[in-house]
Formats: sequence, structure tokens, C-alpha cells
Amino acid sequence: MSKTSQPKRKTERSLKHNHGACIETALSRAEQRCAEEGERFTGLRRQVLELVWAEHKPAKAYDLLKKLSDIRSGVAPTTVYRTLDFLQERGLVHKIESLNAYVGCSQPNAEHSGHFLICEACSEIKEIENSKISAWLESAAQDEEFKIKTETVELSGLCIRCQPS
Ligand SMILES: [Zn+2]
Ligand SMILES: [Zn+2]
Ligand SMILES: [Zn+2]
Repeated sequence: MSKTSQPKRKTERSLKHNHGACIETALSRAEQRCAEEGERFTGLRRQVLELVWAEHKPAKAYDLLKKLSDIRSGVAPTTVYRTLDFLQERGLVHKIESLNAYVGCSQPNAEHSGHFLICEACSEIKEIENSKISAWLESAAQDEEFKIKTETVELSGLCIRCQPS
């Protein structure tokens, strides 16, 4: 049997990207990360991460529990929270504090705090990949002799698709 593959069109990437590839990349990175730390990337951890990555939108623990209950039986809320903690500690997901929800990390190999652009209209979340923000905040805090414990940068507004043209 032969498989025909679709040619990739780069120009369409910004408007309609291949989200299947996003999920695949996230899962293989997670597998790698767990292996490096001697942790098991269990079926449950994989399923929770896959559900968080279903969209580039915030996922609430409660909704994850509901979706998870559809694919496996006997899932307790504490199990979901513990799994999310595990993924968060390894930098595979970020918690969006202002929404009390989770989003997959697009760059789990680099040490960073999450900085996010959150669209109020379509709820899409984009992680800003910019270490300059951290460096700037660090120096601003140092000027005040302040020791940073958590760094939360969440900007809300309208994404490019939701802005009135
Ligand atoms: Zn995607
Ligand atoms: Zn991240
Ligand atoms: Zn939007």
C-alpha cells in the first residue's frame, strides 16, 4: 500500500497551522523530559497532557477531569491535580493564574517562566518566547532589593484574528 502525503504550504502556517504536529512534538518532548529525569511517562500523564494540548486555549482541571472520565474509568479529581502538578513541575504545562487553568508549554527544554498573550475573544493563548522580560523584571526587582518567588506575566487583549479590520 502506498501513502500519499500532502505537500506542506508554509504560507498558510500563521493562519492555519498543523496542530497535530504541535501535539506530537509536545508528547515526544514530554517523553524525553521524563526519561531524562528518570520518571515514567505513564498512560495517564500522556492522556492529561494530550487533553491540555487539545487546543491552544486554557484547560480547566474540572474540564480535564470530565474529558478524562470519558476515556478511562475511576479517575479521581486528586489524580488529575497531581498529574497536572507533575507536568507543571517538569515545565510541560503552565498554569494561567488569572484563569486558574492550564496550557501546554511550547518550549519545555528551556528554563523559563511563562509569559502569555491571552485573547479575550477566542481565548487563544500564546506564550511569548522572550527571556528579556525575565531579565528586565529581575533587575527591576533587584533595584528594590526584592526577591522574586513567582513571575506571572499575563497580558489580555485581542489576537490578530479577533481584531476588527
Ligand atoms: Zn498547535
Ligand atoms: Zn513555557
Ligand atoms: Zn482571538
